[in-house]
Amino acid sequence: MKPKNGQVEILGIYTDWCLENAKKRVIKLINILLETKLSREEILAIVERSYPKITKYFKPGERGVPEVELHNTIQARLSGIEDMVGEENPHGEYDWDNNKIYLYLPRMISVEQIIRSLIHEYIHSTQDIEQMEKNRELGYDNDPFEREAHKAEDQWEKFVWLN
Ligand SMILES: [Zn+2]
Repeated sequence: MKPKNGQVEILGIYTDWCLENAKKRVIKLINILLETKLSREEILAIVERSYPKITKYFKPGERGVPEVELHNTIQARLSGIEDMVGEENPHGEYDWDNNKIYLYLPRMISVEQIIRSLIHEYIHSTQDIEQMEKNRELGYDNDPFEREAHKAEDQWEKFVWLN
């Protein structure tokens, strides 16, 4: 039996809903499967697939799209010795002077974490450097630029590749 117009529309909405749910479940599954120690190559592959989507979705700032670099720790990045062990290593950093994003490999434990870090640091690259310096006085939690970066992170599922 051929569905009538209204039925087609409802069917369409239902199909969209099913696909959306299925996609969410697949994302969750990928996340669980990969929530182990990811290799540098795996992390790089996730960055290479997701980062172009992120920079397309959120408009780049005046400084342009930052390059992404993978490092073991801040200490390793600064010293140039990659096996140097550091404590209190963050997930990532945005380098305001060189317009670069650094991701720290030991903290990149899931697809979600990698994409969140990319979004967070990328959003900083779109922000104003002078305002950033003023905001710092407010403290991390009250800094509107940090809030903006954290809020954007919540859209991470949009940038998961599924093919
Ligand atoms: Zn931040």
